[in-house]
Amino acid sequence: MQCSEFVEKVKNNEIDIVEHTHKVIEECKKINKDYNYFNVVSEELALVQANKLKKLINGKKADNKKLLGVPVSVKDNICVKGVESTAGSRILKGYKPLFNATAVENAINQGAIVIGKTSQDEFGFGGFSVNAGLGFKIPKNPFDKERSCGGSSGGAGGLAQKATFPHIALGESTGGSIACPANFCGVFGLTPTYGIVSRYGLIDYGNSLDKIGTLGKSSNDAGLLQEVISGYDEKDSTSLNVENERYTEYLGGSVEGLKVGIIKEAFGKGNEKAVENQVYKGIETLKEKGVKAEEISLEMPIKYGLATYYMIATSEASTNLAKYCGMRYGAAEKLRGSFNEYFTKVRSKNFGDEAKRRVILGTFARMAGHRDAFYIKAAKVRTKIINEYKKAFKQFDALISPTVPILPPKFSEIEKLTPLQNYMIDSILVGPNIAGLPHLSVPIGYDQNLPVGMLLTGDHLQEKKLLQLGNLFETTKFHSS
Ligand code: GLN
Repeated sequence: MQCSEFVEKVKNNEIDIVEHTHKVIEECKKINKDYNYFNVVSEELALVQANKLKKLINGKKADNKKLLGVPVSVKDNICVKGVESTAGSRILKGYKPLFNATAVENAINQGAIVIGKTSQDEFGFGGFSVNAGLGFKIPKNPFDKERSCGGSSGGAGGLAQKATFPHIALGESTGGSIACPANFCGVFGLTPTYGIVSRYGLIDYGNSLDKIGTLGKSSNDAGLLQEVISGYDEKDSTSLNVENERYTEYLGGSVEGLKVGIIKEAFGKGNEKAVENQVYKGIETLKEKGVKAEEISLEMPIKYGLATYYMIATSEASTNLAKYCGMRYGAAEKLRGSFNEYFTKVRSKNFGDEAKRRVILGTFARMAGHRDAFYIKAAKVRTKIINEYKKAFKQFDALISPTVPILPPKFSEIEKLTPLQNYMIDSILVGPNIAGLPHLSVPIGYDQNLPVGMLLTGDHLQEKKLLQLGNLFETTKFHSS
């Protein structure tokens, strides 16, 4: 059942929302035992919300709520009032925000029920969710527990696939963290245009890159939550002041005449054949529906994307992490020694290895003396990348590539990768993220019972076209309840 159908049933009292929420929470706990998708299951909050909604339904005051009773999970780096929100880091252990992130607030106002905080790489630093912070568990792939869910929104992707109840996940992407887990877990993952969802209440990784988006079993589910959470917010100075779109209204319409560009550089060297075969099949399906497809060369994003991304992302991350000094949030120590000694002790003890690596890399990249050669240069290349995309969108409605080059890897394989090889998982995904472009990972098929995703990238504010194209691939099995 799609979430929009579920909402109708709740409105008509065909489903008792309190009973349903109880069942959902039990199921979440059960899934979590085997798969580690949650850092926290927010049972208390979910039941309070369900009871409130029940009163509204009984009083016939809930008819206009687009997400009435829909269980929504929230990536751990997005603040939920009163629920421990750690971004998967031990340094934030015990931090319970006093407010909701705007995206969460918007979803709750439309009747969403928050079921918990999903597991992730610490602060979003990773592509496999294996960089979960100290003391946190690593989520396992829903198709094979020996394999990764992708990252950094690994818990969100895994749960979106595994949940047997209607559910949509709130995820976040800085450089690919929605599309990558969506790909490895066989679900739809929508990363919207930078700025259309407020970042207020998001625990920052890279402020010029971070985007809150959605993961779900269908383009309808992902689009539904996306249209609810989007919108101008005066609490975020980078929030875009544009008209809200009703994405779900575009689904099912004809795609005839749309033109897609197949990114030449995203195919070939480094990709598993199994992945490419599925993507080519996907392109054939689009052609059968009347979509025109042509190859396009897009050199800059693929060739220089990773280097540019890691300079900008680590520079921003290293400044963002400075506030975790053991005084304002989470972890603390006995006050002893100088501030530097205290600060160093708290951070040495509570940041994981990857967080430390990124602080060092980012601090180096923006130091006086290196700044022009690294950070400023990366900012310039970023502009060139954006220009190259903008040129392509004069000709095409969307661009096509694999989402990631490989099938979900085994944990034992990931262990052998160097940090640089780890970073390569996002070689295709960093481009649209650097440019703030909307992109949708569509589950297009399976190989050896492992899911493969196809990436559709659109021009700014064109998420509707992506959802419309993605809607042609609704192959995933639906929720049973
Ligand atoms: N894998 C990329 C990184 O480690 C992207 C992660 C993200 O989007 N949060 O930075």
